[in-house]
Amino acid sequence: MEKKPLSIESRLAQIGSIEEPVTGAVNFPIYQATAFRHPKLGQSTGFDYARTKSPTRKVLEEASAQLESGDAGFACSSGMAALQTIFSLFGQGDHLIVSLDLYGGTYRMLERIFSKFGVSATYIDTNDLDELEKSRRPETKAVFIETPTNPLMMITDIEKVATWAKRHQLLTIVDNTLLTPFFQRPIELGADIVIHSATKYLGGHNDVLAGLIVTKGKELSEEMFFLHNSIGAVLGASDSYQLMRGMKTLALRMERHESNAKAVAEFLKTHPAIDEVFHPAFPDHPGHDIQNKQSSGNTGIFSFKVKDARYVEPILRHIRLIAFAESLGGVESLMTYPAVQTHADIPEEIRKAVGVDDRLLRFSVGIEHIDDLIADLGGALDAAVEEIEGGKHHE
Ligand SMILES: *Cc1c(COP(=O)(O)O)cnc(C)c1O
Repeated sequence: MEKKPLSIESRLAQIGSIEEPVTGAVNFPIYQATAFRHPKLGQSTGFDYARTKSPTRKVLEEASAQLESGDAGFACSSGMAALQTIFSLFGQGDHLIVSLDLYGGTYRMLERIFSKFGVSATYIDTNDLDELEKSRRPETKAVFIETPTNPLMMITDIEKVATWAKRHQLLTIVDNTLLTPFFQRPIELGADIVIHSATKYLGGHNDVLAGLIVTKGKELSEEMFFLHNSIGAVLGASDSYQLMRGMKTLALRMERHESNAKAVAEFLKTHPAIDEVFHPAFPDHPGHDIQNKQSSGNTGIFSFKVKDARYVEPILRHIRLIAFAESLGGVESLMTYPAVQTHADIPEEIRKAVGVDDRLLRFSVGIEHIDDLIADLGGALDAAVEEIEGGKHHE
């Protein structure tokens, strides 16, 4: 009988479980060493110095490459460190085409840091082939996609863009933080590089800062290895262990994040204080069909607009179970106000043009019981409406 490859749930649960040859420990230990003894001149155990390669990190990196269907994985000290390493592929005169509704830190890195080294970027709706074509220059080197985008959940057809990019010899880079390889594997759709803020869903517990890069192709993987080692923003052994521990439960967590987020979004759609809900699971979302085609599920974050910006302050004051905090992807529910938090570094014109205005709230739905989440959010919405509109009724 032909052997069936292991499902992703099993591969996740077993990260590092059969790699430890000495004691048979079922989870791979933390090798807290930066230097490794050479057996003799000209020989190496495969490990020399921990920046270049380290045992605990290696298990994480190989698992990541495998989960994302790539050839090599690189663990970095944060998502931004991973982005710095990737953008270091480019230099003086190079140009990138980038998703318009972008993570604020990525925008800041390109505009404030890589611009100093002569790298420029054009921000567009990357799902629009005409816009891609119009933005392309002789010096364009890559397309950088977030899909879904955060916070507005815009969807880009990865396969369509990767096909276009290949025709013009451009790299396709996808930030897969929001969906994780459990729901979406960009390399299988033609992307060359996948980047993760593993701080979010992969780690999943709001307790480890980490980034991952996965590359496809020998030459690109070798170049990334060179940059990863040369820049040195690598992940430490303890954090590598912590991240693997989180990843073991990714499948369970993503399923719960997805169902909770969808249920909260459905609740909000019917609430009188809410103007709009941005969630690709709804058939009226413009990216619904593409999302269903290229991903096997939806992420646990989405955003919504309240009818009146004055509701925002009391909502954030009245939520109890849901924390008013930055970040996303952890087991605990967090609510963010993008205009003043995550997206504060994006100029107001750009922010407003894409729709990140002062009525928009982002909700990273955790794995708590759905009834408790709806009670907490519903209570806060009702209290906010009462505070703002209450006066009017008594007039
Ligand atoms: C958080 C985040 C990053 C940055 O990652 P850090 O781990 O915070 O450095 C990059 N991209 C996306 C989509 C993110 O959500």
